[in-house]
Amino acid sequence: MGTDYLIVGSGLSALVFGALMAKAGKQVLILEAHEYPGGFGHTFSMGKYHRFNAQLHYVWNCGEGQTVNRILRKLELEKDVTFEPFDRNGFDHMRMPGYALDIPADSQQLSDRLCQLFPGHMKQIAGFLREVERTASGLGVLSSHQPFNEVFGHVGDTLSSLRNLNCTLQDVFDRHGLPLEAQTLLALQWPDFMLPPDQLAFYSWVLLFTGYQEGAWYPTKHFEHVVDSLVTTIKSADGEIMYGQQVDKFVLAGNRVVGVEACDLQTGESIRYEGSHTICNMDPQKAAGIIGLEKFSSGIRKRLDYPYSYSNFIAYCTVKDIDLEEYGFGRWNIFHASSSDLNAAINKMYVHHDYSEPSFAISTPGFLTDDISDRPQGQQIVELLTIADYDYFKQLKETDGKAYKRKKKEILNAMLDQIEANYVPDFRAHIAFKITGSPTTNEDYCWCPRGNSYGSSMTPAYFGLGRLTHQSSLENFHFCNASSGYPGFAGTFWTGAKLYQTLTDDKVF
Ligand SMILES: Cc1cc2nc3c(=O)[nH]c(=O)nc-3n(C[C@H](O)[C@H](O)[C@H](O)COP(=O)(O)OP(=O)(O)OC[C@H]3O[C@@H](n4cnc5c(N)ncnc54)[C@H](O)[C@@H]3O)c2cc1C
Repeated sequence: MGTDYLIVGSGLSALVFGALMAKAGKQVLILEAHEYPGGFGHTFSMGKYHRFNAQLHYVWNCGEGQTVNRILRKLELEKDVTFEPFDRNGFDHMRMPGYALDIPADSQQLSDRLCQLFPGHMKQIAGFLREVERTASGLGVLSSHQPFNEVFGHVGDTLSSLRNLNCTLQDVFDRHGLPLEAQTLLALQWPDFMLPPDQLAFYSWVLLFTGYQEGAWYPTKHFEHVVDSLVTTIKSADGEIMYGQQVDKFVLAGNRVVGVEACDLQTGESIRYEGSHTICNMDPQKAAGIIGLEKFSSGIRKRLDYPYSYSNFIAYCTVKDIDLEEYGFGRWNIFHASSSDLNAAINKMYVHHDYSEPSFAISTPGFLTDDISDRPQGQQIVELLTIADYDYFKQLKETDGKAYKRKKKEILNAMLDQIEANYVPDFRAHIAFKITGSPTTNEDYCWCPRGNSYGSSMTPAYFGLGRLTHQSSLENFHFCNASSGYPGFAGTFWTGAKLYQTLTDDKVF
């Protein structure tokens, strides 16, 4: 008969769903292709001392009473899995030639800072920030399925939100006539979406921007501890996670998924697993391709037809014999632009593979927690993140291994040049360790199609009403990942818990 819940993939939404089900007394079996749990959120070791989280840098919705906290409470993990706050006076430090803006938690303070930088555009700034606030409030009402009278009470905000349904961030910048430099400073956290403002859904930007204003967090014992705690919850309720199991076939009886076949990546053996319900944490579009698109209803086929978000380039480094605090680093991220037109800058990197004026994120997790178990004594972790084109890297890797390595070096050097010119003059001299990841690294270690960063692309067409949900139109088969819910740490926690709530009627939030 198999297990109650057979789960393909151990990404965050799968682990949250699995932990909640296991705690509720259900049998859970997770099949994971990689050797580590956590998907994009997995932690890997380099040598004896270095431990890097693959992708996660900072997270939102983790404060007391917020989504992540409520889920952890349900799992009785909230006392052990705790979070440290970023600096509320400036959790994201936006830097570009001639301009610096620290994004504060307080909206009035943000408005004051912007007006000080752009005194000739105070009216436009006020209009834009008001629209952000109303959209955020409207989105809250729309997504919380409030009773009608509550929606009626917020009708202004709800309408304001609806009018932006098909808008990009750029559309709203343009509507309010914000100066280009102000646009860039506000949108410099673009690596959180891997999209330029002229493609990014305004909704998506508003949710993340205002979400981080409510609180930006880093786990006290690093992301590895969060993932390990979910795994431990599953195992201690007699659930199981099997690694190195790559699912390459779904077994159907009519319209019902009854199990899967997985290749054991160590032995090459094909093994069949059965479950009363199959939960698909691997990419839904890829899974549907394996199953056969014709098996799905036309409505679901339409929702499955999404483009992937763009891929990325990441450098994991440690530095020694330097106090980064003296150079402007701290309990915040730094987002850097080398020029003021963000759409053009991202296009130049992504489309033309030209990194001569890079825009990128710098994160320094060491400032956020006292736990130094992730690196050698006396060293600091510095991670650099930017966009990269999957097709270009894939082709380079397959046709010219040396050119592939040269390009990786070139991108790293372009970012290091900017760091030395703008932040730490002799940064390279302090680098103790470095390793880089390209779009193909993402594909190889996170099993994500086209090395995508956030699942389906967060453009207006795919972030609104036509977005895929857990529903698959097949019996007892549910999607549960970033593309069939919401991406990000908080987004995937929500996705896993929401599916648990839907299938059990047990309330989490
Ligand atoms: C560069 C980058 C930076 C990011 N930074 C942040 C951040 O700072 N904050 C934040 O909140 N979010 C961030 N994110 C997003 C966040 O990491 C993801 O949205 C989230 O972790 C996705 O979780 P998921 O549940 O969709 O599963 P995934 O992480 O996609 O996991 C899917 C799992 O399924 C497994 N799998 C796939 N195919 C198979 C198969 N055939 N058989 C068996 N197993 C399979 C994979 O190995 C993987 O473990 C970042 C993402 C990227 C790429």
